[in-house]
Amino acid sequence: MSDLVIIGGGIIGGASLYYLLEKGYSGSIVVMESNDALAQKATSLSAGGMRNIWSTTVNMKMTTYSIKHFSEFKELFGISIGFEQNGYLFTFYEDRWDEIVKFKPKWDEAGVSTELITPEDIEKMIPGLVSGVDHLDPEIQEMLTISPIVGGLFGKDCAILNATAAATTYFDYSVNNYPDQVKISLNTDVDRIVIEGGRVKGVLTKDGDLIQNETVLLAAGAWSQEILKRSGVDEEKNIPVIPIKRMLFVVSQPKAVDYRNIPLTIIDEGVYFRDEAENLIVGCADEDQSPGFDTDPDKSYYEDYINLYMQARIKGAEYCRIQNMWGGLYAMNTEDHNAIIDKHPDIEGLYINTGFSGHGIMEAPAAGISMAEIILNGEVKTIPEVRSLNLNRIKKGDLIKETIVI
Ligand SMILES: Cc1cc2nc3c(=O)[nH]c(=O)nc-3n(C[C@H](O)[C@H](O)[C@H](O)COP(=O)(O)OP(=O)(O)OC[C@H]3O[C@@H](n4cnc5c(N)ncnc54)[C@H](O)[C@@H]3O)c2cc1C
Repeated sequence: MSDLVIIGGGIIGGASLYYLLEKGYSGSIVVMESNDALAQKATSLSAGGMRNIWSTTVNMKMTTYSIKHFSEFKELFGISIGFEQNGYLFTFYEDRWDEIVKFKPKWDEAGVSTELITPEDIEKMIPGLVSGVDHLDPEIQEMLTISPIVGGLFGKDCAILNATAAATTYFDYSVNNYPDQVKISLNTDVDRIVIEGGRVKGVLTKDGDLIQNETVLLAAGAWSQEILKRSGVDEEKNIPVIPIKRMLFVVSQPKAVDYRNIPLTIIDEGVYFRDEAENLIVGCADEDQSPGFDTDPDKSYYEDYINLYMQARIKGAEYCRIQNMWGGLYAMNTEDHNAIIDKHPDIEGLYINTGFSGHGIMEAPAAGISMAEIILNGEVKTIPEVRSLNLNRIKKGDLIKETIVI
């Protein structure tokens, strides 16, 4: 017996747990995690980047809240999470630059720090980067569909952090400060949520243990939809969140440059990189990736695709050899790529906190406090815009269209 079961021991489960307790939840909570350790899936496999540069108000507000929280993390918890505010640098071709220039006053109004910078400024910020394309053969320009960079958007408040450290701190803090309320149950694979007559009645594990309870918070990332399917939730009431592989490559840095403390930089076709110890972490969403639970990294995606753009853009990038690589799963909301943070409208006692696609680390604190407010008060208070991330928006077609995507 337990008052609340949280399914999923990643950063979203962790942040939800922490805020629930800090905001006064007085019942007992069991966190069920199928792995033998917390935060080993998308949370630890992420690039740990966080930006408040978005086109939708809800994403701006959530990430601004989260950046502030993570910047105060060490004071709050006494734990360092490698929070480094080196900024984000987006680079643009002519075709999108006007849109960015026109949007700038909206960021100013929203208090999101942005700076429009010239190609020369970009080259100074990222040594070895060539903003033009005259140095490339015309066939290569055509093959890569690469154009001159005409401007950059720099956000100085954007940051990186160690997401595993942040997530595990939420759990450790909760267990240490609320020992009578919290139990973390590792190696506990949830088979299904028992739902009868439109109400949650319990949680059944794959080992056959049945926990009777009436409130479940589903924070199982890419596995959430499958859990609901196994629980007998039909497609119409299920969440449009699918698993989709994204890969990261740790590569050596180009020779003769110092990339320490560079901003997380996004160049052609969404190739992004940031420094990581003596190396770079590099990624790029593979738009042709089919959905599924496969997480095998594919080095040819780096060698035959990503690195071609890096070589075209950065002198010496042919020396950026793979040192390590991995694949992880986005919990991709197929409808608008944004989170679902809501009480399920048709299943009493079921709460959903997932679908973050590529931005669950940077929204975790905001998602955690919002979920806690929904469970405790029935409504989001701190960031009212989060109400727009309800599940019904999908049915109504009231989608949150984000245009600043990587
Ligand atoms: C390669 C990559 C790069 C990324 N980069 C960024 C980035 O730079 N910035 C950013 O903000 N976001 C990034 N993301 C997205 C981010 O990692 C996720 O949005 C975030 O980690 C979601 O956290 P979560 O707790 O929902 O999911 P997870 O960390 O996946 O946690 C879900 C947990 O549920 C558990 N679980 C699943 N099924 C069951 C079950 N049946 N029973 C019990 N437990 C179960 C899993 O084991 C897992 O621990 C990236 C993701 C990937 C894959």
